[in-house]
Amino acid sequence: MRYTFITLFPDLIRPWLEESLIAKALQRGLLSAEVVDLRAFGLGRHRSVDDTPYGGGAGMVIRADVAVAAIESALPADEVILLSPAGRPFTQEVAEELSRKEHLVLLCGRYEGFDARVEAFVTRSLSIGDYVLMGGEVAALAVLEATARLVPGVIGDPMSHREDSFVRGLLDYPHYTRPPEFRGLKVPEVLLSGDHEAVARFRRKEALKRTLELRPELLLRARIGALEAGWLAEMDREG
Ligand code: SAM
Repeated sequence: MRYTFITLFPDLIRPWLEESLIAKALQRGLLSAEVVDLRAFGLGRHRSVDDTPYGGGAGMVIRADVAVAAIESALPADEVILLSPAGRPFTQEVAEELSRKEHLVLLCGRYEGFDARVEAFVTRSLSIGDYVLMGGEVAALAVLEATARLVPGVIGDPMSHREDSFVRGLLDYPHYTRPPEFRGLKVPEVLLSGDHEAVARFRRKEALKRTLELRPELLLRARIGALEAGWLAEMDREG
């Protein structure tokens, strides 16, 4: 999988590529990444990339001609993704779809964002949440983090993301490690029992319980069997 980041702040992206699993995957050739400096496509002596908005108002807008020149320098690509608070929500489902592509171009905005005509040159706009960041770099890195870990080989244990939050439409179950007791807080007995079936049942119930408490709207689309629907009804009654 190849990623191209287009940004006015390349140094916000580069350190992320030099640490942890992403760095290892880059070294092993499972991923590749380039950072394109949008300023290099700027106009005039000052390499200007933005201008005042037509119609007036606060802030500066990144010019379409500058942005599109940068996008075209990165083509061909399977997807050109504009990071924007006005985009469609970036979800695990979208991450899974994107992780199967070969080349993603991630376009990071700043200021008031891009001239709207840039949208004609992207394949989709994605938002990482209902809040406004100062720039698209953190959002682009979120897309990198969420998709790269789904690329085969990037994460050591291929089983590890099968149980993640959202994968089956539920939040993840709680995890515990040593010591068995910490400041009076004990690891649930069943996890120490060695009874794999009981552990699996406990985890599934806890995932349902957390989802019901914290993100009940997810249950509308979750993959839930009859037994689990019974547990949920019971939890709901118990309040
Ligand atoms: N005026 C824009 C609006 O309200 O939609 C906000 C622009 S924001 C200050 C600058 C840039 O940050 C955007 O162009 C986008 O690339 C990025 N950005 C901000 N919030 C984001 C979010 N929730 N998801 C993805 N990108 C975001």
